[in-house]
Amino acid sequence: MPRTPAKKPKGKKPSIPPFRRNMRSFFGGPSFFGNLTTTVLIFLVLMSAYSLFSGLVEPSSDIPLSVVAADVAAGKVQSITVRGDSLDLVYTDGAEKTSRKDPSAGLPETLATYGVTPQELTKVSITIQGQSGFEFWFLTLAPIVLPLLFIAFLFWFLSRQVRGAGMQAFSFGQSKARVTDPADLSQRVTFKDIAGAREAKEELLEIVDFLKSPKKFLDIGARIPKGIILMGAPGTGKTLLARAVAGEAGVPFFSISGSEFVEMFVGVGASRVRDLFQLAKKAAPAIIFVDEIDAVGRVRGAGVGGGNDEREQTLNQILVEMDGFEPTEKVVVMAATNRPDVLDPALLRPGRFDRRVTIDLPDRRDREEILKIHARTKPLGPDVALAVIAERTPGFSGAELYSLMNEGAILAARENRKEVTQYDLIRSIEKVMLGPERKSHLLTKKEKELTAYHEAGHALVSSILPNADPVHKISIISRGRAAGYTLKLPFEDKKMQSRKQFLDDIAATLGGYVTEELLFDDVTTGPSNDLMVITALARDMVARYGMSERMGPIAFGERNLGNEPYSEQVAAQIDAEVARIIDEAKSRAKKVITEHRTALDAIAKELIEKETVERHEFEKILIANGITPKKKEEEPGITIAPVGSGDIA
Ligand code: ADP
Ligand code: ZN
Ligand code: MG
Repeated sequence: MPRTPAKKPKGKKPSIPPFRRNMRSFFGGPSFFGNLTTTVLIFLVLMSAYSLFSGLVEPSSDIPLSVVAADVAAGKVQSITVRGDSLDLVYTDGAEKTSRKDPSAGLPETLATYGVTPQELTKVSITIQGQSGFEFWFLTLAPIVLPLLFIAFLFWFLSRQVRGAGMQAFSFGQSKARVTDPADLSQRVTFKDIAGAREAKEELLEIVDFLKSPKKFLDIGARIPKGIILMGAPGTGKTLLARAVAGEAGVPFFSISGSEFVEMFVGVGASRVRDLFQLAKKAAPAIIFVDEIDAVGRVRGAGVGGGNDEREQTLNQILVEMDGFEPTEKVVVMAATNRPDVLDPALLRPGRFDRRVTIDLPDRRDREEILKIHARTKPLGPDVALAVIAERTPGFSGAELYSLMNEGAILAARENRKEVTQYDLIRSIEKVMLGPERKSHLLTKKEKELTAYHEAGHALVSSILPNADPVHKISIISRGRAAGYTLKLPFEDKKMQSRKQFLDDIAATLGGYVTEELLFDDVTTGPSNDLMVITALARDMVARYGMSERMGPIAFGERNLGNEPYSEQVAAQIDAEVARIIDEAKSRAKKVITEHRTALDAIAKELIEKETVERHEFEKILIANGITPKKKEEEPGITIAPVGSGDIA
């Protein structure tokens, strides 16, 4: 057991590349016209176009009409072409000039007023050319319309900029949902990308069918569930499954996270929900996915100090939208949570999230499949045996296995190798479980001795007590927050744990503390985490699992302020039982340590020398001291591989 606070980081999310990395933002995303430079460029183009066209309207080389009249009278002009109010003159000597006239008067009248006689005019050939309609309108309207267009563009652009800068004021209520387009193959996830989770996939296949051909179902009057809630530990692939349903059915996937609602002002969450449902209905058939729904869907009014208004309004809006669905609406709402126990019962009523799909932690076979999926893109060395890795990782979630594979590849790349080896993967198991090794964290000689004895204590008690898990590895190299650790792994994944196993576990976990107390006549802060773990376990045994004979088979639950399902006396009795269980376990650990003192010394000595002791070396020490190591019970033909948890003690 880690000597300093460091539990197996079960709740800790491993570093997963952000799922929605490539997801296009539906609203308020990066502006279409990236930046200010573009604005300026567009502005310049518009301006030059404008001046070009206004230039056409008013050519600069015009000669006055009086000169035109004089030249016509003098017989110098050969021809005049009239286009609207502009005149193109060709002189007898070949010169070309332009002029313009009053648009309301004809050319002959205009010239007559300047004193040109009809005889003089007949010498000039006059052609009247109509302006093309487009040219006319463009020239007339451009000076008015272009500036207006420009101003409109500027407004639009600015409003986008503001939104992009994250000023919620402008995007109030607009759904922050991300949408995945089914046509975008690079983001498509299908059931093939998910290993294990067979029951969940089977359940969801029905939804896929419906979304693919809703008519078939609607014609026969079948009502498809509106809401499906995915429940499972963090990293078991809930989000992945929801995306795969959309991918399999080829429908748009709108996703939003419950925690995003909570941060907003009152009323905004509700209007977001409204927007989201509206968008999805327009795109139907579609999937709406509410991740971490427990963030908004907690039991209402619970807890001290009243509920959170915003949360309640958001939750109410989700319920209203779901109740308002027509039976013909082809929108399926999926939600995910790892805390189904805290969900508001209103969410789970028929017609809402009435379908529940549980996703378990993967068993050994599934772990191997998951590893295979994530090994697809990584060249593996010939020595890699994923089955062995799967066997050594009970309790790992899909996300942790993904991390493990990734860490392995990182190790190989850092050592400039082209292939991932088995050793890379083995090293990664502990890295994912406990955090990276901290070789720089130097222990003093005394600390090193203490840590070695502490871990040896765990390992020894685990090996002697019949129901404790066998030891896989002991180390006094600090990792994450732990100064040392003893890695115990069950031979098989365990779905259920018995009272005897719990009791032996508690004793083994106390092995470190007891050793410190016995040998050094003192205790350190080191085992604080061990103590937290066993106290919680002992309390669960008494109050949750009915494993205390004195208290009987009653699940007492938690006793909080405002929630007092049992009396003060019962609470005191529970405390006494917890203390008794721990006390008895301590005595048993003490007995083991005292009786096998020579073995303890041998293990500690080996640890101080080598810092890390692997299973086979450890077993040699046990045998040398007359202890039979635990052996796996072979049951040929039958593989029991239910879910269980790895344990570090
Ligand atoms: P959750 O939503 O349940 O917390 P995610 O769906 O976000 O978990 O899973 C995180 C990552 O873990 C996924 O992107 C995937 O890479 C990996 N993963 C989880 N479960 C599986 C699985 N059954 N098969 C393959 N990969 C998985
Ligand atoms: Zn410990
Ligand atoms: Mg998730």
